[in-house]
Amino acid sequence: MKESKKNNEIALTGQYLGVVEEYLPDKKSTFVRDGQIFATKTGIVSIDKERRAIEIKGHQDEDRKIIKINDIIIGTIQFLRLYSVGISFATINNKIHFNSSYFGNIHVSHISHKFIEKIADAFQITDIVRAKVIKQEQNEYSLSTVGNNLGVIHADCSICGSTLEKIGQNKLKCSRCGNTENRKLASDYGNVTENLRY
Ligand SMILES: [Zn+2]
Repeated sequence: MKESKKNNEIALTGQYLGVVEEYLPDKKSTFVRDGQIFATKTGIVSIDKERRAIEIKGHQDEDRKIIKINDIIIGTIQFLRLYSVGISFATINNKIHFNSSYFGNIHVSHISHKFIEKIADAFQITDIVRAKVIKQEQNEYSLSTVGNNLGVIHADCSICGSTLEKIGQNKLKCSRCGNTENRKLASDYGNVTENLRY
């Protein structure tokens, strides 16, 4: 069973929030698929207790921060190339960056200590990843996911869209359709909320 979001928790774009029997979904900041509610933007979960209404609130006044080498970012995989992935940042050092235009790349050689033959064995589009900034070039950042606590922290099944569950060191399984997929997982895969602070 997936866990519903609680009031004041952080939600990332695309994350599961709960079911329609539980919450009344906000039209602007959430969307519903098969009775399940998902976030359409990154922000703070706000639940109106009386109406049981759920929405995601952004904080426009959140100050932007300069990114430095060794900063830890959390972001979403936007595309896969032959030897790298593109990732847009959602948080920097555990602080949320709404409408962030920061963008980084993870080169195949910076994914893991182990040899990665295909990028697709480590990441897929829409994965949420924790990575370290290792180099800056203009507005783009080179990132690394080498290390236990770095890598994918949330992934959805590429067939049915359900959240994948960890079944091995770098293996995930969909409990809904049985599909298995490979990723470069962070050691705390699946516990995204606990690792974010606002
Ligand atoms: Zn599935």
